[in-house]
Amino acid sequence: MVNAVQQYLTESAKRFPHKIAVKYHDDEVNESISWQDLDNFTDAFACHLQACGVTKGDMVAFYMPKSVGAIKSLLSVVKASAAYIPLDYNTPENRLAAIFKESHAKIVIVNQYSIYRASEIFSKFGPDIKIINVDAFKFDSSLPHRPVDDTISVDLAYVLFTSGSTGTPKGVMISHGAIIDYIDWCVEVYGLDAGDQIANHAPLYFDNSTFDIYTAMKTGATLHLVPESVNMMIPRLASWLREEAISVFFCVPSVLSMLQQTKRLQADMLPAMKQILCAGEVLPVAVLRYWMTLFPHIRFTNMYGPTEITVDCSYHIIDAVPDTEQKSVPIGRPRANMEMYIFTDEGVLSRQPGSSGELWVRGLSVACGYLGNPIKTNESFVQNPSHNNFSDLLYKTGDLAFIGEDNLFYYAGRKDSQIKHMGYRIEPGEIEANTLRLDYIEEAVAIYKCVSDETASFIGMALKTSRPVETRELRNALAAVLPKYMIPARFIFIEETFPRTANGKYDRKAIAALF
Ligand code: AMP
Repeated sequence: MVNAVQQYLTESAKRFPHKIAVKYHDDEVNESISWQDLDNFTDAFACHLQACGVTKGDMVAFYMPKSVGAIKSLLSVVKASAAYIPLDYNTPENRLAAIFKESHAKIVIVNQYSIYRASEIFSKFGPDIKIINVDAFKFDSSLPHRPVDDTISVDLAYVLFTSGSTGTPKGVMISHGAIIDYIDWCVEVYGLDAGDQIANHAPLYFDNSTFDIYTAMKTGATLHLVPESVNMMIPRLASWLREEAISVFFCVPSVLSMLQQTKRLQADMLPAMKQILCAGEVLPVAVLRYWMTLFPHIRFTNMYGPTEITVDCSYHIIDAVPDTEQKSVPIGRPRANMEMYIFTDEGVLSRQPGSSGELWVRGLSVACGYLGNPIKTNESFVQNPSHNNFSDLLYKTGDLAFIGEDNLFYYAGRKDSQIKHMGYRIEPGEIEANTLRLDYIEEAVAIYKCVSDETASFIGMALKTSRPVETRELRNALAAVLPKYMIPARFIFIEETFPRTANGKYDRKAIAALF
């Protein structure tokens, strides 16, 4: 019985010792590691982490661009019975500080590339933060190399920080059991095996990467990390997928849209690709039609789920090219061992066709809440209203959905103002709170302007300032406090009063119409 994700690694190392486990390949770097070497290295590095003070239940951050070293780091953390926190290498310092404050992490793993920047930043967060360089660690078989690993399935494996409406990111806590429940199901339903070449496109601080890392680890497939250099040049991504003979590609739909827009895709371009799985945002029918028509040999699946339920709780394998009349792609049915309900306006949890309302999710993979934030946790993770016999939590997703006559769930938007832009989950509140900290900003409202072509949709911000401000000055100031993907693309300056609703709130629809 597997009760901790690192056991997938140990098993694959036994079954496929010399097979490539993880690979990173672009024009400048060609690095890979076998399953056996990965298992040995992470055992030894986990011992080192424990010798440096890591104990069961600690949180250990890692800070470096995507690399084989990043995978070694996160696996070593779990082998040391601790939980990892992937940090976005490009995120501003104030956001990192907020994450450190919340997590009380005392150790940050870095690599050769990030060590100088890390030393500069993390020394400001406290004298007792220790920086450990994974690249400098040399495997020595004479040193202890069996870490004390007494992880059980309810222990945390990772904490992922996602945008928070109050301006501070929220740490979603995910257990080993939650990941195993999801991964075992993925491997079975998608028929994955050691012959697969699985791409990792999502950043490691985004939970779609959980699918890539752990399906590869469970099956002994090879995990191919999509290099940043490839990702920045979308046409290059298509040729990289071909060159690496990727057979499983899990991505946000906007990646498919962007690849389509390059106009360079050709029918014979991806002969090795067996499946493309999408999740994280709406999969537009037109994009799906284009891809399915061009690549009839690839199986497409739409998956759905927030970070708080461990990647995905529903799926829809698409068996035919949708016709032009079809309005949307279903998010499908709950996966095994998960239940999805519609919380109706009448206050009833329903699974009946025809119901519509907020989507609530129940199952083993529901997160353990938000780190250090019991108020927000209690708001979003609630006792099953149909009984009080035992602790039975449902996650209130904030997503609106309905169940069609075909018994499938359909996504219908958000209850709140949360945005999904190019796969990034963004709370306008986080953008606004950080903008309002600039002393010349009096009012700030961030909106999302949707246009039919998703890749042209943008974040806009309406501002009232106490003095004239150049857009360039504003952009520079925001770059210091917000991740790049949260910086609004357009600004408008309002001199009089902001449009408001009857109850005095900002009228976000009316404000969006100004752009
Ligand atoms: P994240 O926590 O970053 O994975 O974002 C989760 C949110 O992305 C969900 O609450 C939805 O609003 C949205 N989302 C995820 N998958 C889908 C999907 N297949 N279709 C529409 N929206 C999705």
